[in-house]
Amino acid sequence: MAGNLYIVATPIGNLGDISERALEVLKQVDLIAAEDTRHSKTLLDRFGIKTKVKAYHEHNEEQFTAQLIQQIVDGESIALISDAGTPLINDPGYKLVTAAHDNGIKVIPIPGPSAVITALSASGLPTSKFIFEGYLPAKTEARKKCLQQLISESRTLVFYEAPHRIRESIQDIQEVFGSERRATVARELTKQYEQIVRDSLFIVNEKLINEEIKIKGEFVIIVEGAQEISVSDAEVLRINQILSEKLPPKEAAGLTSKITGKKKNEVYQMALESNEK
Ligand code: SAM
Repeated sequence: MAGNLYIVATPIGNLGDISERALEVLKQVDLIAAEDTRHSKTLLDRFGIKTKVKAYHEHNEEQFTAQLIQQIVDGESIALISDAGTPLINDPGYKLVTAAHDNGIKVIPIPGPSAVITALSASGLPTSKFIFEGYLPAKTEARKKCLQQLISESRTLVFYEAPHRIRESIQDIQEVFGSERRATVARELTKQYEQIVRDSLFIVNEKLINEEIKIKGEFVIIVEGAQEISVSDAEVLRINQILSEKLPPKEAAGLTSKITGKKKNEVYQMALESNEK
């Protein structure tokens, strides 16, 4: 009988957040595949877990995925953990989980903390619809381009950020999304110096500049989505018509889409149909 692959969430700071089920699984499996064996040792030692641990990270996942799958097929059960939070959420594991499914292996999630959900739950921003973007690009030009593409996104946006880029990123978000939009910076969640600040992007930026928000530790940025604007089809066509006088049809449709929030291909199609009439 094949074993199982367990995807085990671990704390994002406070070790008290480990679940009973996570501890049971980590004790009972044949092997723990950990992103960083030294890092995970602190957690495993604290709970007296003596299970064998093997490194499984982005640099060796290609090489070890087949080997781990073979061990499971041969009857061993393996638990995947990352340095913190839920594996695969901006952490390694995707190749292993896909390979497990491809080989008919049962994948069992053991839910627990993840910085994205923890931050969102305390953000004071709308939570019913959100998108998680992971890390923004490191270079300003690419970062602003990425933000431009998100400018009319109406769902709450969640980003991970490193301390050495938090100021630049908030500045760029403010520049692209405008000073008035609300944002929450969640720092060092579940840890001693936890800090959660919600304000306009302008004030959040100020608080980072004057270090009211400390530039240390781990960060999640949550930004309010764009206000949904309701523009009638007639208005969409009118804007597109004006832009078409100066621009090729696809560019005009693209700009109209940015202005009105209507999808570019829908604008293009509407314009075609209107021209045929
Ligand atoms: N798998 C993890 C999860 O489920 O949240 C995320 C791993 S990702 C490599 C690490 C990033 O998550 C950090 O750079 C930071 O943006 C965010 N993060 C992790 N722990 C955090 C914490 N305690 N407080 C704030 N952000 C945290």
